[in-house]
Amino acid sequence: ALDILARLSSPFAVVNFQFTIGASIGICRYPEDGASFEDLFSAADTAMYHAKHKRNNYFIFTEELRQQTQEKLEIEQALHSAVTNDEFHMVYQPQVTSRGRLFGVEALVRWRHDSLGLVAPNVFIPIAEDCGRIIDLGHFIIERSIRDIAAIEDSNDYYNLQLSINISVRQLLEKGFLESLTEVLNRYKYPSRLLTLEITESLFIDDFDYVLPLLRGIREMGISISLDDFGTGYSSLSLLNRLPIDELKIDRSFINNITTNPRDKLMVLNIMNIAQGLGLRVVAEGIETEVQSLLLNRHQCDIQQGYLHSRPLEFSDLVEYFIGFTSPAKSA
Ligand code: C2E
Ligand code: MG
Ligand code: MG
Repeated sequence: ALDILARLSSPFAVVNFQFTIGASIGICRYPEDGASFEDLFSAADTAMYHAKHKRNNYFIFTEELRQQTQEKLEIEQALHSAVTNDEFHMVYQPQVTSRGRLFGVEALVRWRHDSLGLVAPNVFIPIAEDCGRIIDLGHFIIERSIRDIAAIEDSNDYYNLQLSINISVRQLLEKGFLESLTEVLNRYKYPSRLLTLEITESLFIDDFDYVLPLLRGIREMGISISLDDFGTGYSSLSLLNRLPIDELKIDRSFINNITTNPRDKLMVLNIMNIAQGLGLRVVAEGIETEVQSLLLNRHQCDIQQGYLHSRPLEFSDLVEYFIGFTSPAKSA
């Protein structure tokens, strides 16, 4: 396989042009990986797709890969009817300001399937994106979150709760995304200035020029944009500079070690500095200890979110939480 890859990767001259091509090679073995042509072909095909992740590479089919593929397929199939069967619901994780006031909530989706049980969003969201289900699911997420939080707002106009919703690439790029979002906001009379859309930088890898005007349109409506999981993946400072965003969420993986690893602490403090310099609101996620919280507060981190303050809550528990928060006992 390496030999084939090496030979294919040298340039080919056709008339006056030079062409370079690559290949991804999937390999399987008889009889371990299948007894029929179809089974072997499908195993080699699966291995080839796996090789494609790295490009110009080969991969030998494994039992583990078969299981992964099988699991993914099961989840994909179960996702088909999950929205119509009402298997999703939303939970809400509170966010607090450096002064200990309630700032808002992040809406997080949960999926409970009859036989698969509780499936983590990290697992099913990427699959829903791949197979297109994210569109239905995305509509559900937006509609339900706005409905729930608007209901709390209605019952007590003192809250002024910010609602953050995670939006995946494919959802944002769907035609009519903004129109349908506007319709839901109007229907529940939820002010757009209280809404934040969380996006990740993966959005910009391929579609920068398409995404930019879209984000501007969203902000013109008064909606805020937040860059989630900052510091992971390919986040770059030049990206920060060019993006029309209002908020930066520093990834949990940095917050985890700020009190134990001086380098992580240095990173976080400097990211905060840059963000503040650019006029962005900074949210630290995944705060689990008092010490982390104090350190971030000391350095003027605007908003904190994490198990220390609260786990993501079911809607009914959220209502209880607010009552606790605003009662004199808590605020004294
Ligand atoms: P995220 O948007 O970065 O969400 C934060 C994740 O960190 C949530 O995991 C939350 O439960 C978890 N978390 C919060 N505080 C702590 C803490 O103190 N310690 C630890 N260990 N974890 C904490 P969750 O709900 O499992 O979601 C994982 C990811 O799945 C999210 O990361 C987001 O990327 C995606 N996701 C979740 N809900 C949605 C959704 O409604 N739509 C889309 N497109 N993606 C979603
Ligand atoms: Mg998020
Ligand atoms: Mg995050």
